[in-house]
Amino acid sequence: MTGLSNEELRRYARQTILPNVGLDGQRRLKAARVLLVGAGGLGSPAALYLAAAGVGTLGLVDFDVVDASNLHRQILHGTAAVGTPKLDSARARLADVNPHVTLELHETRLTSANALEILRGYDVVVDGTDNFATRYLVNDACVMLGLPNVHGAIFQFEGQASVFCTADGPCYRCLFPEPPPPGLVPSCAEGGVLGVLPGLVGTIQATETLKLLLGLGDSLAGRLLLVDTLGMAFRTVKVPRDPACRACGTREITTLVDYDAYCGTPAPAPDGSAAALELTPRELAARLDAGAPLDLVDVREPHEWAEGRLAGARLVPLGTLDAAMDTFDPSREIVVYCRSGMRSANAARRLREAGFHVSSLAGGILRWEDELG
Ligand SMILES: [Zn+2]
Repeated sequence: MTGLSNEELRRYARQTILPNVGLDGQRRLKAARVLLVGAGGLGSPAALYLAAAGVGTLGLVDFDVVDASNLHRQILHGTAAVGTPKLDSARARLADVNPHVTLELHETRLTSANALEILRGYDVVVDGTDNFATRYLVNDACVMLGLPNVHGAIFQFEGQASVFCTADGPCYRCLFPEPPPPGLVPSCAEGGVLGVLPGLVGTIQATETLKLLLGLGDSLAGRLLLVDTLGMAFRTVKVPRDPACRACGTREITTLVDYDAYCGTPAPAPDGSAAALELTPRELAARLDAGAPLDLVDVREPHEWAEGRLAGARLVPLGTLDAAMDTFDPSREIVVYCRSGMRSANAARRLREAGFHVSSLAGGILRWEDELG
């Protein structure tokens, strides 16, 4: 069993005196590995409390950078971190909260190609994603790997939490077999959220995670907790396991699926063509050569811009996008690019939601240099 130093014994004293926790429980937490998918509104309080409680290894999956509009709810990140990767500010904050925690940072978007590899080896997965695509991906991967999935979701003033994929509990698909059709889901940015709500729900996720690791109490497995902040009412509804569930019942789902075009991922263009959302380097070069009237926008950081950029571009770092909104011309086509295409996809989604005609350079400047450099 993992040993605890004198400093750790002092740090966790108010927790180890709890009945049913004790030094054994604390050692169990230290030996535990928890993966947080998303370092945003839900992941922030969950990560802070799990680190503070002494969970030995915390994994974090996120690819986004801190935006000023995140700060009202994503309490892992501060004003000084705007424009920097969320994982960088998470690392600094969590190391200060508890230097005994080992952090494993996965700076990537979770996809069908990498989900199993990333989730494998953790004891519990905390789903703090804001979109259906990733939520189904996390659920299906947890079913396949036999990992508990501590679920949380929020919308405007209401939230929900549960524990899925335990040995005999239901999974997310037992409750919601398939994602809703793309057009029916308002985007996260359109829907809005009361900043403290993910604080409540993410803290409930951290609580359920600690209970699972310590083997304490009754988990939310088999129950969905509904949180209504306006009525300040908490209620639970029973969620039975569905023997016909294609994930955990019949096990028909044997490969992971990337559901595109849901909240948090690029939506189809108004003309319905998915291709209009992304331009390949060759397509962009051809449009530029032909003198197409488009505004080329670089959403990287100033130090990256200083090292080289596409001719004719202007710099608007992703973290300053909201503030720069009214500098864009709605009558012109915008093409955004970054290093690898991740940040520009984020920028393109936000510009599109603000009504601009915009596409993102697929693969970013790296692919551009690769194919045309
Ligand atoms: Zn199921």
